[in-house]
Amino acid sequence: MLVSAKEMLTKAKKEKYAVGQFNINNLEWTKAVLLTAQELNSPVILGVSEGAGKYMCGYTTVVGMVKGMINELGITVPVALHLDHGSYEGAKKCIEAGFSSVMFDGSHYPIEENIAKTKELVETCNKLGLSLEAEVGAIGGEEDGVIGGGEVADPKECKMIADLGVTMLAAGIGNIHGKYPENWAGLSFDTLDAIQQLTGEMPLVLHGGTGIPADMIKKAISLGVSKINVNTECQLSFAAATRKYVEEGKDLQGKGFDPRKLLAPGFDAIKETVKEKMELFGSIGKA
Ligand SMILES: [Zn+2]
Repeated sequence: MLVSAKEMLTKAKKEKYAVGQFNINNLEWTKAVLLTAQELNSPVILGVSEGAGKYMCGYTTVVGMVKGMINELGITVPVALHLDHGSYEGAKKCIEAGFSSVMFDGSHYPIEENIAKTKELVETCNKLGLSLEAEVGAIGGEEDGVIGGGEVADPKECKMIADLGVTMLAAGIGNIHGKYPENWAGLSFDTLDAIQQLTGEMPLVLHGGTGIPADMIKKAISLGVSKINVNTECQLSFAAATRKYVEEGKDLQGKGFDPRKLLAPGFDAIKETVKEKMELFGSIGKA
């Protein structure tokens, strides 16, 4: 069964650990993340970007696949199926398709419009028992054409959005998507601290979890981050393991071309990455 992310994140914030959001791209990805969460008795959030949703043949296909797997694999840990960086329209579509959690990223709108749209979605999500993530202060990265440090959110704007009744809040604190540049300035803990002072119990979300040093992750958790998004890191480990398999010529040996064999090393690599992250975030045994 899919659950809202509210309960797992409230518990995480209280007990000072973070739940990982691992973005999924296909069947192998989804199976790898779900099985690892179950093996380690950790709550988990499956992230689906609008692009990945389209790639996987639409949100209803994703819901069908995830629900089917939870059932067939006997997954009993809490699993939230969450739209990542949703548009207003995308959020509505996912709610209709059966997602248990959505992110509305209105950070590119003027704050008044971000508030108006977030407010409307809060009402819908509350009615249906879904969790809603909002964002303040755009998170940079290659996909936005931003190079260097990410934006830093205004803590007062964070407070305004938090007060609308969202479940969790993503705030830019110098984090970015994708690989971090060598001259990256690091996370702005002063900003994070100021945001937490104003938003209190609200679980905070750290995007761009790939490549942030472990000590910064731990410090961020101590300052109120209770959800951390991981996407690129699983892609990198999947690609590296698949490359190794092919470069060693294993696809040319026997039935090595069988997709179930060809994709197995990448599958195992995703599992390993998810495990490392769950260890770092402290979510193991917290289901
Ligand atoms: Zn993000």
